[in-house]
Amino acid sequence: MTNPPAKHRVVIVGAGFGGLEAAFGLAGAPVEITLIDRRNHHLFQPLLYQVATASLATSEIAWPIRYLLRDRKEVTTLFATVTGIEAKDKRVLLEDGDAMAYDTLVLATGARHAYFGHDEWEPFAPGLKTLEDATTLRRRILVAFERAERESDPEKRAAPLTFVIIGAGPTGVELAGTIAELAQDTLPPDFRNVDTHKARVVLIEAGPRVLAGFADDLSAYAQRSLESIGVEVMLGEPVTECTADGVTYGGKRLDAKTIIWAAGVRASRAAEWLGAPADRAGRLEVLPDLTVPGHPDIFAVGDTVTIAAPDGNPVPGIAPAAKQEGRYVAQVIKARLNGATVGPFSYKHAGSLAQIGKRKAVIDFGRIKLRGTLAWWIWGIAHIYFLIGLRHRLSVALSWLWVYVRDQRAARLITQGSSKVTG
Ligand SMILES: Cc1cc2nc3c(=O)[nH]c(=O)nc-3n(C[C@H](O)[C@H](O)[C@H](O)COP(=O)(O)OP(=O)(O)OC[C@H]3O[C@@H](n4cnc5c(N)ncnc54)[C@H](O)[C@@H]3O)c2cc1C
Repeated sequence: MTNPPAKHRVVIVGAGFGGLEAAFGLAGAPVEITLIDRRNHHLFQPLLYQVATASLATSEIAWPIRYLLRDRKEVTTLFATVTGIEAKDKRVLLEDGDAMAYDTLVLATGARHAYFGHDEWEPFAPGLKTLEDATTLRRRILVAFERAERESDPEKRAAPLTFVIIGAGPTGVELAGTIAELAQDTLPPDFRNVDTHKARVVLIEAGPRVLAGFADDLSAYAQRSLESIGVEVMLGEPVTECTADGVTYGGKRLDAKTIIWAAGVRASRAAEWLGAPADRAGRLEVLPDLTVPGHPDIFAVGDTVTIAAPDGNPVPGIAPAAKQEGRYVAQVIKARLNGATVGPFSYKHAGSLAQIGKRKAVIDFGRIKLRGTLAWWIWGIAHIYFLIGLRHRLSVALSWLWVYVRDQRAARLITQGSSKVTG
């Protein structure tokens, strides 16, 4: 008796938007897939700021990876961290010393925070990328109000009640708007000594406008909307220092106990693992079929790569782009196994969306631009649509209904750490 021919082994590193979509796209192909991620969950990062601001619970925006692939018997999920690649021997190296052999490798390891050469700022100005980041920020924000409540000297309340967000892209704008609403609408009845309306939310941006990726009129609308709910917007003011007690920007000093970094990202180490060409943000420069130059059996997708869109601009680092790339790579792998070929990857931009406050959002579909309440409804429906599964959709919709109707943010939980609020 002869053994059946071994199946083609596909290893996918990263079960974010790109990696998961590649695994979904390979359904039915004659392959054995190993999906490796250092987290046991797939995370819907676009709504992370809602966990950080106590609107949603962690389990509403994340799914166990094993559960998502439970019906796919050819997929093995590994909870492990990749630390390198031996391309010559076609092996992925794991942190615990193990190695995983592949015939085709898909790298979908995303991006991380970048502090523009000032990594020492990270402890004072944490960023938002993981569920742990979100619950840490939530703790910092809620503890700041607790600190202010315990402070008897009104002058000393100013620093705990000052929230600084650095970077006015979609995440910075969404955080600033939601923290302002938390202070203005949700928290006031819960506190006795402190008037949470007095909280300052300061959004600092080095560039000339908020939401730089959107059309000018939408950025201007976003700025006006933020200011109407009390956010102080500082433009053209690069931050030059972050400490435990505040920030320095544009030569000015601002005392603040909560500083949040939403200013920059850097690709994962995928390019370093392969010694492959990368841009200044560390993104792998891939070929039009999303393979790594010199490695036809290694694909890379999502935030860890750079490639030009049909308009000549780089494909943006957003979830739909990562998903399109993951889907495309699955097509190429299937075609190759059938001895066929597929044309080059071509990105299709569906639009950009950002929420500003409870009833305000901006949407840039190119020729169609929307703002205000209608945009907010479309933003909400689109995000609910992109969540996986009915339970998550219903749960998020219900949480948002409560915020919309009653200004209640149910996830106001201080976890991780003691009740020490002074210092
Ligand atoms: C706060 C925030 C808000 C955002 N808002 C939006 C938005 O509103 N709309 C939008 O379209 N996009 C948004 N994005 C961007 C979007 O989330 C990314 O573009 C998208 O997640 C990229 O997908 P990816 O598959 O490349 O990476 P990711 O989704 O980040 O997935 C990478 C995966 O790789 C795993 N991994 C990394 N390194 C290793 C390793 N060494 N070993 C094993 N596993 C590893 C990670 O654990 C992760 O699961 C936002 C991002 C953030 C951080």
